[in-house]
Amino acid sequence: MEQDSNNNSLDKVRSHLQRECFNKLFIGGKFVEPIEREKLPTYYPATGELLHEFPRGKANDIYAAISAAERAWAEGAWAAMSAANRAEIVAKMAQGIEDNKEMLAEIEAADVGKPFRQAAMTLGGAANEGKYWCSLGKALDKEQDLPVNSGGGKGGLPPAEWNVVYRRDPIGVVGLISAWNYPLNVAFRKVCPALIAGNCAILKPSEIAGLSCMFIGKLAQDAGIPPGVFNIVTGDRDAGVALTMSPSVSMISFTGSSITGSKVMEACAPKLSQVALELGGKSALVVFDDTDLDKAVETTMKGFLTNGGQICTAHTRLIVQDNFKQPLLNRLKEELEKLPFCANPITEKNRGDRAWEDGKTDVVQPVVCDSQHKKILGFLDDAKAAGVEILTGGGVPDEKVVGHSGGYFIQPTVLVNVGQETDVWQKEVFGPVLSVRSFSSEDEAVLEANSTKFGLASTVMSSDPAKAMRVANRIRAGAVYATSTGEGILAEHPAVSRGGFGCSGVGRELGIGGLHEYTELKSVNYTGFSLADAKIESVE
Ligand code: NAD
Repeated sequence: MEQDSNNNSLDKVRSHLQRECFNKLFIGGKFVEPIEREKLPTYYPATGELLHEFPRGKANDIYAAISAAERAWAEGAWAAMSAANRAEIVAKMAQGIEDNKEMLAEIEAADVGKPFRQAAMTLGGAANEGKYWCSLGKALDKEQDLPVNSGGGKGGLPPAEWNVVYRRDPIGVVGLISAWNYPLNVAFRKVCPALIAGNCAILKPSEIAGLSCMFIGKLAQDAGIPPGVFNIVTGDRDAGVALTMSPSVSMISFTGSSITGSKVMEACAPKLSQVALELGGKSALVVFDDTDLDKAVETTMKGFLTNGGQICTAHTRLIVQDNFKQPLLNRLKEELEKLPFCANPITEKNRGDRAWEDGKTDVVQPVVCDSQHKKILGFLDDAKAAGVEILTGGGVPDEKVVGHSGGYFIQPTVLVNVGQETDVWQKEVFGPVLSVRSFSSEDEAVLEANSTKFGLASTVMSSDPAKAMRVANRIRAGAVYATSTGEGILAEHPAVSRGGFGCSGVGRELGIGGLHEYTELKSVNYTGFSLADAKIESVE
């Protein structure tokens, strides 16, 4: 019965994937076959069945996309438009995501294994975020020719005869390389600012789960993005390497693991091209003993189980005050062992992570693919060998509990008395695995929170705002949540810039600062004529 439901829903998704955009590369405004006509497979994480085969673009396809982008850049029409006009075109793409949300959510549910409910929610978020980026088009135009205060040479300011203005120029041909965990969201968060800033772009989605990203090509075509301004080449690492190494690509915006991020930076170093890197994390949840127990349990679960733990900001290290540890762990174990598994994500319309916000049950999704499944189980084996204690979980659920066999499921796992030097404390597991340590003082809590090389996000829970603030200010992470309720942890707003400290990244995304990442700041100094004259001449 469960198997029939999986088969029917998979067939429905396969029928969506018959469309041209899911079977070809998007280069120079057209859907084209990859030069070597090779394909890559993607599997349904809930059952391990083949979902689709998509084009494996290689270096020569990347070069074709770069040539198309270079032609569009040299022709110059896109960069010459106002940012507000470019944003109007990009806004049509954002609307296209909203209009096709159901189909895209089914595709992401089948490709990533996330419950349909959650996929639809996050895709709605991508459409809204796109609209936010578009609202920044006008803001960017207002920043053009913004006078620098001359100040007559006094107080360290430029001399009175200087008429200096700032401009924000596009960078040129930019490469956008994205991760699989929120495929379309991660990619669209790069596409919008890159295009609105006036660049010509090549997107290389993840080979693990990137099908929904291919639809962005169709949206670009329908919106009337000029040929070559936006291109998509699907493929694996080799395509990514070709994009990063090309001397014609002046910036790489990358979202992925810290290890790959460092390789991207290395590839960009000889040509000194710009990089923006959104990388991995090992975020801490610090819980003081004055926190409400129910809220602490709920926040802990949300922190490490959202998207099956496959989120860069997953709070996978619980740092709890000594005397609060046992009550919290007892309740956590009880709640986790009640959680059902998501046997068929494609049809999972009611349950899903963050479902408790609507008073509904959460559900444990499979992890994305066989290699991630094996990698996570490897972390657990190593932890067991190192003597780490398992409070709950620790392996693969019985297929009777899931409802069928073959999926990449892992039990929600809590590891206690974890050594600070162990891999499960120091490395990103990217699955439903929580490591726990405790503290006795505020200073110790801060030391524990800052005890890894990452610094993407973290949360402090306490009913004392002054204490929460003191600790939040000492945590080294790009986004810190200080909360008595846990409400809003992991939340993002497009107007709030975010990024990583340490090995979690370079640069910031979102907000006006996120748009600036895709521009070069230029000063123009007019002397001998007034700024007004210069403007009149450039209009004529
Ligand atoms: P990954 O690093 O394996 O791959 C990311 C992308 O890089 C893929 O498209 C891949 O094909 C490409 N790639 C691989 N090797 C490359 C190379 N040498 N040169 C150029 N490109 C190359 O990451 P992943 O497994 O796809 O994604 C999971 C990771 O992404 C996690 O570490 C997660 O924390 C991180 N992530 C970070 C954020 C953030 O905003 N900070 C958001 C989502 C995911």
